[in-house]
Amino acid sequence: MQYTFAERVTHMDSSAIRELLKVAEQPQIISFAGGLPAAELFPLEEIKESYYQVLGAKDPSVLQYGATEGYLPLRQEIAAQMRVRGIVTEAENILLTNGSQQGLDLLAKLFINPGDVVLLQNPSYLGAIQSFQSYQANFMTIPTNDAGIDENALEVLIKQNQPKIIYLTPTYQNPTGSTFTTDERKAVLRIARDYRVPIIEDDPYSELCYDGQAAPPIRSFSTDDEVIYLGTFSKTLAPGIRLGWIVGGKSLIAKLVIAKQGADLHTGTLLQRATHYYLTHFSPTEHIETIRHAYQCRRDLMLSELKKAFSNKALWTEPTGGMFIWLTLPEGYDTLKLLPKALATNVAYVPGANFYVNKKSHNSMRLNFSNPSPSQIQQGIKLLAKIL
Ligand code: PMP
Repeated sequence: MQYTFAERVTHMDSSAIRELLKVAEQPQIISFAGGLPAAELFPLEEIKESYYQVLGAKDPSVLQYGATEGYLPLRQEIAAQMRVRGIVTEAENILLTNGSQQGLDLLAKLFINPGDVVLLQNPSYLGAIQSFQSYQANFMTIPTNDAGIDENALEVLIKQNQPKIIYLTPTYQNPTGSTFTTDERKAVLRIARDYRVPIIEDDPYSELCYDGQAAPPIRSFSTDDEVIYLGTFSKTLAPGIRLGWIVGGKSLIAKLVIAKQGADLHTGTLLQRATHYYLTHFSPTEHIETIRHAYQCRRDLMLSELKKAFSNKALWTEPTGGMFIWLTLPEGYDTLKLLPKALATNVAYVPGANFYVNKKSHNSMRLNFSNPSPSQIQQGIKLLAKIL
């Protein structure tokens, strides 16, 4: 049957790149393309034990419908973790979601009318662009100069265009690995506050810090719920469990609850109980320390391999945390056109153009260092250098 979809469906891009990158899942390919954690480091035994204990407690409510907001003790535990990161909050300010991706979609559903302006970094996280796009947002990008954010230009742009929302990943960004300084965080907040534009602070990576602590979240400087914060267990525990959270003012949380009810009633009860058990009976901090150490070694290795292979031939970011390095080739290269050749040589990356909403750069690529093993990193960068 020929369906007549809603107008907004024309704005839902099926990314051609996803099709191309399906090839990257084949075992012979060294993939720097995914945004995946290292699966061999998942705390499989502890999670198994958590499910076992929760199911073995003879409490049938673990399989029952639950509150849309989420399991209260888990929200309390997350609130306590947030306070450690400088965000003073209570369980009542937290909604549990199926990963932060659902948080992005629910926020887009609440805020975006067709044609509303979303102001974001260029490049930005693809999944956020897709969520906003499907609610027919227009995009504008944060102006930058050699020193970082161009605050004057940002203020003029916000004043003239009155964006509906500002979307930021200020810490160890996906895709570039870049981080806002504390001054930049305060400046963006001041301008957003002056022009009454809420900020969505998407923060999946701040615990993956390799050179000292991450700068404080923007939400930690906010006094009037100007900043809506998104957190997730995807990078610190496991993405397959699909558990994230939104921190916001109580009236916003109430609206989000209604939006989530329409989407999925609530996040899985068993999953929430088991995650709560894991967080309170095992050592999540120790686990994060383990992955931090492993990823730091992989980042250092990738940086030193890039130096050996690309010195004077390309530029790359040196992220102090997160999972990604952003490589920029000389003008004239097109990383999308080069991808089939890379795949044929058994190495994969994501072409940079995918992460832009305008003024695309065609000579950049995103390289993931958390998922490939150290020997794959060594081999893969050599292969990349050969084809480029
Ligand atoms: N935001 C950013 C910046 C991300 O990189 C990701 C995951 N790639 C997400 C959100 C979605 O994460 P989750 O698994 O929590 O839905």
